[in-house]
Amino acid sequence: MKRAVYPGSFDPMTYGHLDIIKRASKVFDELTVSVLDNKGKTPLFSVNDRVNILKDATKDLPNVKIDSFSGLLIDYAKKYDIHVAVRGLRAITDFEYELQLAQTNRKLSKGALDTIFLTTSLEYSYLSSSGVKEIARFGGDISECVPDFVADLIFERLKEIDGR
Ligand code: ADP
Repeated sequence: MKRAVYPGSFDPMTYGHLDIIKRASKVFDELTVSVLDNKGKTPLFSVNDRVNILKDATKDLPNVKIDSFSGLLIDYAKKYDIHVAVRGLRAITDFEYELQLAQTNRKLSKGALDTIFLTTSLEYSYLSSSGVKEIARFGGDISECVPDFVADLIFERLKEIDGR
């Protein structure tokens, strides 16, 4: 069985992520989308919220599983016997970072974890989680960036933070 992991922050998941998930789910028998619990970052959504958003958005994709992890991706992949990581490339600016990450994971895992890249669909090439949050903070329209239920959650969460 061909299995892969699509790791990321997904804070929150956008249509760009969802597009990569749908396309990767056609390439692999089983795709685990795993939310990185990065203690070094202050996310808008908790890991639990990010996992629930992904679960909701992928409920019609039977071979997609949602999970979370902390620590090194290579350790997580080893634990579940996964040998391929999927990542998305939007523009040349992603390339340098992604290349370094892929090579580090290959080296650290002694070749056990390789990375496969899917290039963004053109209509999503401008989309990033941080961009979406920035637009939302200024009350902009994010309906073309994330599903409606995610847009509602973003505005709710921003209100919560502002009200503190
Ligand atoms: P990170 O894990 O670097 O914090 P994200 O969670 O935002 O980044 O994204 C996870 C992966 O999805 C990365 O490989 C990123 O390049 C990719 N990605 C993000 N947005 C898009 C998009 N609009 N189109 C294609 N790939 C994307």
